[in-house]
Amino acid sequence: MRCCPSSVLHLLRCVRLRSSARRGRSRLPLWIREIWAYIRLLVHSLCFSSLTDSDVVFDSVFEPVFWTVDYVTRWFGTVFVCLVVILTGSIMVISYVVLLPLVLYKYSPLWIAWHLCYGNWIIVMISFHYYKAITTPPGYPPTEKNDTPFVSVCKKCIIPKPARTHHCGICNRCILKMDHHCPWLNNCVGHFNHRYFFSFCLSMTLGCIYCSISGRNLFLEAYNALEHIKHLDMEKPGIPVTGMGLLIGLLPPGQTNFQTPATPYTLKDKMIYKSIIYMWVLTSTAGVALGALTFWHAVLISRGETSIERHTNSKEMKRMMKQGRVYRSPFNYGRLNNWKIFLGVERTSHWVTRVLLPSGHAPHGNGLTWDAFPARKDLTPV
Ligand SMILES: [Zn+2]
Ligand SMILES: [Zn+2]
Repeated sequence: MRCCPSSVLHLLRCVRLRSSARRGRSRLPLWIREIWAYIRLLVHSLCFSSLTDSDVVFDSVFEPVFWTVDYVTRWFGTVFVCLVVILTGSIMVISYVVLLPLVLYKYSPLWIAWHLCYGNWIIVMISFHYYKAITTPPGYPPTEKNDTPFVSVCKKCIIPKPARTHHCGICNRCILKMDHHCPWLNNCVGHFNHRYFFSFCLSMTLGCIYCSISGRNLFLEAYNALEHIKHLDMEKPGIPVTGMGLLIGLLPPGQTNFQTPATPYTLKDKMIYKSIIYMWVLTSTAGVALGALTFWHAVLISRGETSIERHTNSKEMKRMMKQGRVYRSPFNYGRLNNWKIFLGVERTSHWVTRVLLPSGHAPHGNGLTWDAFPARKDLTPV
């Protein structure tokens, strides 16, 4: 009968643990002695290796914590993606069902054309880039033997790591030109989907700012109307409230004072007011938070570095500054060139076809080799 080597190892380990646990003269329960023996075994194995250093000890001690965080983040990734889809979908539904009739009723043909074009363009940009960002693999280094130049070896995957590649604990594999693991995408942001991630953030920010600015007067009107309803409810409880059912549609832009109630409030009116308030609060807060994130990523792209490289580069910058030298990132090709490489702009027309319109073109390069990567002699495996 053949026996699997891993099961033999497991059996040996159990026998060793049980025998070492039984050797103790303590009258503690067996399961406590087994755990104690296992801890002793761990300590011995850590002390045995001559390569053990403070990093290995730190990693070993906090491994359960890292594992839990990674597992929870991986699981919550699906929840976060559902949340993004539901929240964005709700804003789109409110835009079409509540705002579009108001826009068609209130505004001039020129403003109607602007709102229709801009609103639909931003919806297409958000949907396309989010879908591509979550479905496009970020890029992985080859696991078989090949001629790709590498700068270090991953301790977890035990494979060569090309330049700009980092290991993601949540995906549990190495990622080409890794920027970060995004729970809102439930995916790593790497070489092949970095542009989709940034374009999604930018278009979402522009969409939120658009909703926040253009919906400000509607928000004030809806808020005042709801306050008015609440006030009347308190004055005459139980009596049906009458008010401005068509308030939002009748008021000219910018006017927030409501007129004498003429038509009775309906449930539909209240729903419209609440939808407008929900939309404005959500888009305003998301616009501020996402705007800050997008701005920070735009700064990084201008410098030709990823979020991870920002940390390593700033360390390197300080180290070289002490030596009286100036550090320059090997992947910084100049601000405009960095943007052209990032966005895949090779001709002037690409600014329209590849940046302003949804485009599924592949990024510059294969993510394994980089044109201006100089070998750093003091580079140690990480
Ligand atoms: Zn790895
Ligand atoms: Zn990841």
